[in-house]
Amino acid sequence: MAASPEDRRRVDELRLLIREYDRQYYLEDAPTIPDADYDALVRELKALEDEFPELVTADSPTQKVGAAPSALFSEVTHRVPMMSLDNAMDGRELREWGQRTAKRLHDAGVSGPVGFVCEPKIDGLAISIRYENGLMVQAATRGDGRVGEDVTQNVAVIENVPQRLPRDAPPVLEVRGEVFMPIAVFESLNAAQIEAGEKTYANPRNTAAGSLRQKDAEVTRSRHLDWWSYQLGEVRDGPSFELHSETLAFLSEMGMPVNPEITVLDSLEEVYEHCTSWVDNRHRLAYEIDGVVVKVNELAYQGLLGHTSKAPRWAIAYKLPPEERSTRLIDIQVSIGRTGKATPFAVLEPVFVGGSTVGVATLHNEDQVRAKDVRPGDTVIVRKAGDVIPEVLGPVLADRPEGLPEWRFPDECPSCGGPLARFPGEAQTVCTNIECPRQQVARIEHFAARGAMDIEGFGEQRVKLFCELGVLDDIAGIYEIDFERIEGLEGFGQTSVANLRAAIERSKSRPLANLLFGLNIVHLGAAGAEVLARAFGDLDAVMAATVDDLAAVEGVGPVIAQSVHAFFALDTNREVIERLRRAGVNFKGATPPSDEQTLAGQSIVVTGTLQRFSREQAEDAIKQRGGKSPGSVSKRTTAVVIGDEPGASKLAKAAELGIPLIDEDAFLDLLTTGELPPQ
Ligand code: NAD
Repeated sequence: MAASPEDRRRVDELRLLIREYDRQYYLEDAPTIPDADYDALVRELKALEDEFPELVTADSPTQKVGAAPSALFSEVTHRVPMMSLDNAMDGRELREWGQRTAKRLHDAGVSGPVGFVCEPKIDGLAISIRYENGLMVQAATRGDGRVGEDVTQNVAVIENVPQRLPRDAPPVLEVRGEVFMPIAVFESLNAAQIEAGEKTYANPRNTAAGSLRQKDAEVTRSRHLDWWSYQLGEVRDGPSFELHSETLAFLSEMGMPVNPEITVLDSLEEVYEHCTSWVDNRHRLAYEIDGVVVKVNELAYQGLLGHTSKAPRWAIAYKLPPEERSTRLIDIQVSIGRTGKATPFAVLEPVFVGGSTVGVATLHNEDQVRAKDVRPGDTVIVRKAGDVIPEVLGPVLADRPEGLPEWRFPDECPSCGGPLARFPGEAQTVCTNIECPRQQVARIEHFAARGAMDIEGFGEQRVKLFCELGVLDDIAGIYEIDFERIEGLEGFGQTSVANLRAAIERSKSRPLANLLFGLNIVHLGAAGAEVLARAFGDLDAVMAATVDDLAAVEGVGPVIAQSVHAFFALDTNREVIERLRRAGVNFKGATPPSDEQTLAGQSIVVTGTLQRFSREQAEDAIKQRGGKSPGSVSKRTTAVVIGDEPGASKLAKAAELGIPLIDEDAFLDLLTTGELPPQ
């Protein structure tokens, strides 16, 4: 069947779009859409060209590598072309490649087994470095595969790139590899941008490309790029090899960094297993990868297989699930926390990204929404890497419908209709109505949570339901619940009611520190509550303390002292305390003794924002128990505690060294017992 006019129009449109995206990506180092979306366009074009071969043209993006070099640099003609790679998106496509390869080899008379080399596909940019008589003489980008850009000065300042080869190096040796930016470097670069009030960089790949393709090599030097070599280009009078893996060993001998994760495997099934293992493992690396490059190991077979106009037939890139995708921002809503904090979050058209489906993502606060300029109705780029909380990076401006209004922070609390206020100098907006039902639910939830009164089986859903039914309206109300009104409701059979009652009963004997923490006193985290409990030993003594008494306790600053004092000065709060007393809640004793050296000799690193501890409090709690809390992960680290927005480099380092990652609940257990949860 011949292509219809619509097919032709779509092919033209796709080529136009892809060329523009290529220009942004390769020449400006500033893509405006996620790679996964770009890949989808290329695949659509490829599918149309496969179906209607008459539509294929020599200049179609499916037939070409990258983009022609920019006029900013002089040109370098590659003596051996630098090609792209074909992709396999899943096991089926990998196997199809395997079958095609086996058939071609069979047709060429090969009967023996085929070996495969699996290499992490580093997310950077390909570079060719030429050495003559042992000295580095030229470095070039890939460009369009035939002609690249001369970036010799820039590559020369990359620390890991040898300027000189060993004596026995061949007279001409061209080495190919990937220049990249380590995640830790990327993060500190962005931290500096934020501090300077400048726009942050989108991802390490494009930042690496932008950093390398600089007119001033000093800028490149300051960016601390790194590189891995993975392929030979032109070699004159060098040793001869039979296997690709031998060429890698040779590169190593020449002083080139070769990725230690490279693996040689004998069957495609093993290759597939190896590729999928990287889905989870990618985050233990200190740099980003977007796939696994699978190469036929026998160089003679590579020769027989040859290449298309764009990519070798002897290699394929197995793509890992994307960590960035675009989706529609349906709405921006505001959630209310227990202290009234109003946090905007994005409601997204669900999208599969970073290994799971994401429907919501936090937007932190009003300033962040403004800085990102995201608006309901926008197409936005969402990023989710591993366990890290999903993040909206920004809008795809080209897709913004005309006249789309800016989002405004609501004036009223979505829960109680009370006023939302933002006080001068504060980043956070708050609901100031103390009786706001959402705050009430959140406060009760916190009171019942682990680390506080630890009432098993009494989480958000149940607290919310009880509040809605009117059987509960504050924390003391937990001990006054009329269970007759509950029994028989869906999910509340006799046993489950009995279990809940028993859990509530048990909570009455929790130590004073847990009670203090559960009261939702602003600024008072778990560690602060424990210090107070230890100092005063009794809730009545805490209540009777003056601001000065409180501030005199080591570990309690004036802010906490003021806040605790103000809390107990309020009659409504004192009434709640009296109801707790009448219910028989324990007001005394700080068990477990917090000076017990549960963490003696252990080293616990904290990263990201915890809910119940400030960073200082968490570190103090660790130190009080005999542990250490250094700022970086090393072999000696016992565990890494992960809060919101943890540092990617710490995560990567921990994963690399196999150090257990624990959440805040497990951290609380660790403080009391000194034991880690089973991994
Ligand atoms: P590719 O990145 O899929 O594969 C080829 C490249 O892989 C090589 O040039 C090399 O740089 C790299 N590589 C990493 N490790 C390697 C190893 N061990 N062995 C061999 N090569 C290795 O293909 P491409 O043609 O360079 O570019 C396409 C990619 O760029 C796609 O992922 C695409 O999404 C992205 N892109 C995005 C946009 C956008 O607008 N978002 C535009 C253009 C291209």
